[in-house]
Amino acid sequence: MILRHTTKEVKERSALTVNPAKTCQPIGAMYAALGVHGCLPHSHGSQGCCSYHRSTLTRHYKEPVMASTSSFTEGSSVFGGQANLLQAIDNIFGIYDPDIIAVHSTCLSETIGDDLGQIVGKAKDDGKIPEGKHVVQASTPSYVGSHVTGYANMVEAFIKYFSFNTNEKIRQVNLLSGWVEPSDMREIKRITEMMNIKSVLFPDTSDVLDTPMTGKYQMYPKGGTTVDEIVSMGNSMKTVAMGEWCSKKAAIMLDNKCKVPFSLTDIPIGLSATDRFVQALSTAGKVSIPDSISEERGRLVDVITDMHQYLYGKRVALWGDPDTLLPLVEFLVDIDMKPVYIVSGTPGKAFEKRMAEVLGEKVPEAKFKNGPQADMFLMHQWIKEEPVDLLIGNTYGKYISRDEGIPFVRMGFPILDRIGHSYFPTVGYSGAIRILEKMLGVLMDRQDATAPEESFELVM
Ligand code: SF4
Repeated sequence: MILRHTTKEVKERSALTVNPAKTCQPIGAMYAALGVHGCLPHSHGSQGCCSYHRSTLTRHYKEPVMASTSSFTEGSSVFGGQANLLQAIDNIFGIYDPDIIAVHSTCLSETIGDDLGQIVGKAKDDGKIPEGKHVVQASTPSYVGSHVTGYANMVEAFIKYFSFNTNEKIRQVNLLSGWVEPSDMREIKRITEMMNIKSVLFPDTSDVLDTPMTGKYQMYPKGGTTVDEIVSMGNSMKTVAMGEWCSKKAAIMLDNKCKVPFSLTDIPIGLSATDRFVQALSTAGKVSIPDSISEERGRLVDVITDMHQYLYGKRVALWGDPDTLLPLVEFLVDIDMKPVYIVSGTPGKAFEKRMAEVLGEKVPEAKFKNGPQADMFLMHQWIKEEPVDLLIGNTYGKYISRDEGIPFVRMGFPILDRIGHSYFPTVGYSGAIRILEKMLGVLMDRQDATAPEESFELVM
């Protein structure tokens, strides 16, 4: 395998990325749009881009992901894609009848300079957008940022288009979900309901990308945040935005446009981040934390105590998205593990500062980096210099796991070689128990597989 040629020696690189720890902006835009009820994502670019975005989402969620494309050809690449998009809008409303088309750009349409706002405006002027239907657009050039940037841009675009303040405050809290699984979105709603808080979760891919098998195909499943709900977010008391990279832009937009103040918190992964999330909910909803939530926390602390002797001091390498990595690394530090190598392909200055705070003096040997050159190649080089006990990240780590013989927990996006991951939450106190169970499971499987005969134990 090609990774066997990875060298130990790390050389400074300024232009070359090898095996990036990220994917492309429109995939995030597409995922965010799928979290809106009755919405069809539309890729303004070539068919190849759209196929890639759809297939990555389909392979991760194991659900058919629908999206349309402007189908650029050589002509549109030279003369611009306006005619294609106008025709597409006409066809899509006529044939597939969505409530909303969420258009995102691609590298190609951005490079040739297509102005999505102007084209959508022309579609409206030309009467191609039927009464009561909507076209939302977001700029998502993939040569900057990552899939996380695309997600954030599309979430912001929806807020900009729909949310509206009528000066009639509703006793409701907005929850801007970061990029998490449908099961996580369901779990966030469950926690909020336990706290007796009326909320709008946006985007919400539960019951969209984890629908029950009924034998009948539904192009627009029952899930997703509705247009009315997104509009009403402008009248909410407060916004709790999960994840600086995924949700901050939309929270600022809501604040500026509708005067809804926000509190920015991490995605509730692990003990401390869930504590902060629950506290933020309690403050935003002006409610106290119920005993049922404290009991869930207590169960997590009990499991941490049971597992501590096995997990203590284990060296871990992680890769993925900043909003997931920060609370996850903090969780590992909380339970006395050693997250020593961390990379994220998503740029953003806050990463290094926040990661340094999280790791503090507890893991002084930790190496972490984000941006284009923070790739899987660098991660592999670090591991070759000094190995780790555990890998945590998306499917692309399986090559390192196989080459170096290191136990591997799949977490993040995309997971292309396993099924079922999107049905079990990793957020909240219960989700943290699942993370612990997965980590200990692979570590003990390794111990069983490699223990000499005389040390192979029934009870561990
Ligand atoms: S060309 Fe750009 S938008 Fe299209 S798939 Fe590649 S990175 Fe993504």
